[in-house]
Amino acid sequence: MKKPVIAANWKMHKTIAESADFARSLKAAFPKPQGTVIIAPAFTALAAVGDVLKGSAIHLAAQNLHWEEKGAFTGEIAAAMLVDAGCDCVIIGHSERRAIFKETGDWINRKVAAALRAGLTPILCVGETLEEREKNLTFPVVERQLKEALNNISSGDIKLLSIAYEPVWAIGTGRNATAIQAEEVHRFIRTILKDTCGEHDAADIPLIYGGSVKPGNTGKLLAEPDIDGALVGGASLDFDSFAAIIQNASKEKGN
Ligand code: PEP
Repeated sequence: MKKPVIAANWKMHKTIAESADFARSLKAAFPKPQGTVIIAPAFTALAAVGDVLKGSAIHLAAQNLHWEEKGAFTGEIAAAMLVDAGCDCVIIGHSERRAIFKETGDWINRKVAAALRAGLTPILCVGETLEEREKNLTFPVVERQLKEALNNISSGDIKLLSIAYEPVWAIGTGRNATAIQAEEVHRFIRTILKDTCGEHDAADIPLIYGGSVKPGNTGKLLAEPDIDGALVGGASLDFDSFAAIIQNASKEKGN
């Protein structure tokens, strides 16, 4: 069975000291996690957390990047800077970046390409709004977002990604997608990936669900065959809650 991928997105929360303390506790609690555990602190905390995580099995992600390597891009951070801070992953195309910061499919595609060039694993987020779901547009929206993000990315590179299905209506609302709703979209994403990368590689790409994941719903969601893990926002801010999600995921997908 595939090992779970559990990622924490801390958004604009936690000081440097709080982030480093959390990372220290996580490293001590999960010296050999059953699967992949990733934390994505704010930019300011990346280097400090990167130092704490050196030599551990916990991965470090940024929440965003810019696609250019350097230059006059005030306020932006390049992929190589993230690697320098200790990152090996980066979240791209989160719905908050799409909605609040007006990120386009083209930008997201450039960011995916830049991350791959730097050796970072992109955690590409896709997902529909409530209005789109109610108009039965979930599949076309997810397909468009995927195709835009993966435009001109080789199949060899696509298999290096993780993809997070995050229905916008489930993010931070306490209303998670049911396991059946989430599995249906994950299966759809897997089918699109099969067309691009072939059955074998598509089966190995981690497809993770995000949207009000908590310790209590992790097992049920991850019991679905195409849900390989979770991207966790609010419930990842508290150590005990995030640790319980990791444990419940391991119980469900571990050997
Ligand atoms: C997220 O923002 O990626 C997320 C899934 O948030 P939450 O778990 O709080 O819904």
